[in-house]
Amino acid sequence: MLHIYKSLMDLYDALIIGGSNAGLSAAMVLGRSLRHVLVLDNNQPCNRQTPYSHNFLTRDGETPAAIATIAREQVLCYPTVTLQTDTAMAASAEDSGFRVETAYGKVLHARKLLLATGLKDEMPPISGVADCWGISVLHCPYCHGYEVHGQKLGLLANGNMAAELSGLIHHWSQDLVLFTNGPADLTTEQADSIQARNIQIVETPIAEIEHTSGYLRAVHTTDGSAYPLAAVFARVPFRQHSDLAMQLGCVHTENGLIQATEFGETTVPGVFAAGDNTTLMRQVAVAVANGSKAGVWLNKELMQEGVYSS
Ligand SMILES: Cc1cc2nc3c(=O)[nH]c(=O)nc-3n(C[C@H](O)[C@H](O)[C@H](O)COP(=O)(O)OP(=O)(O)OC[C@H]3O[C@@H](n4cnc5c(N)ncnc54)[C@H](O)[C@@H]3O)c2cc1C
Repeated sequence: MLHIYKSLMDLYDALIIGGSNAGLSAAMVLGRSLRHVLVLDNNQPCNRQTPYSHNFLTRDGETPAAIATIAREQVLCYPTVTLQTDTAMAASAEDSGFRVETAYGKVLHARKLLLATGLKDEMPPISGVADCWGISVLHCPYCHGYEVHGQKLGLLANGNMAAELSGLIHHWSQDLVLFTNGPADLTTEQADSIQARNIQIVETPIAEIEHTSGYLRAVHTTDGSAYPLAAVFARVPFRQHSDLAMQLGCVHTENGLIQATEFGETTVPGVFAAGDNTTLMRQVAVAVANGSKAGVWLNKELMQEGVYSS
């Protein structure tokens, strides 16, 4: 069915939706594999508010924007790769692969799709949390724990998550307050284990997080108490940044992630997914690795189908 295109150049080997860590990593593999690739991105990576990104070898302590700039520069050195700022709105299968419509009204065609669309974190309705997100309200101790280790820290969580995370965060600071933001939902065993670590449990709801430009000053509870802290760790709910995988019929896990193999194959043939949208292990290094593996597998699949570089 190639005759429906003005030329073969209208049919991309791969359309990558999401041009951040996972998407650009896949684009590099595919560019180096001489594949005709378009990356669509609308510039909303989940870590955009964090001042410094840590734990990615060779780029420890860089700003997310600096890492993205280098990544784009290096990927766009490969002449078969292009990047467009646009939003993919709709995706469906067609005879030669997939059809994608964008917010700017473009209709694109590709043999394979790679969804590297990330996740969207949903801020709890507590004044100050959104402003501090990634700055002093932190998602991951591996990314940001070192910078605040040994200081007075908070943890905003309840239930099993509170039990698990309090043990984890306690590794970086033994001066820890657990805010359950309402009645604690802990088993006796969990509460005992938290208290055995001398972690204070505060059940009174949080009224506000006081901060200066995102840097936390104190957590205020509704009974008028104030807890001056260096940072708070919080595991907030998330959702898929885009519903394209749903539109395409990809199976999702019970956590709301796109179900994918180690090499990024989703349950829909020809549709790959990589990065945060497939894993709870949200780190730049992991997203880059996932993107790279998906790129290799996608190229392999094209070769198995007899599609070689032209
Ligand atoms: C606040 C915060 C701080 C973090 N700090 C660190 C850190 O210090 N170190 C570390 O290793 N990790 C850190 N992480 C985790 C890390 O940022 C992620 O694991 C990583 O960015 C995931 O890369 P990704 O490409 O999968 O998704 P993202 O980086 O989120 O990128 C997804 C991209 O897809 C685009 N997109 C989505 N839908 C569409 C669409 N329909 N059309 C076009 N484009 C679309 C988005 O705009 C975005 O650019 C942090 C995360 C958060 C939330």
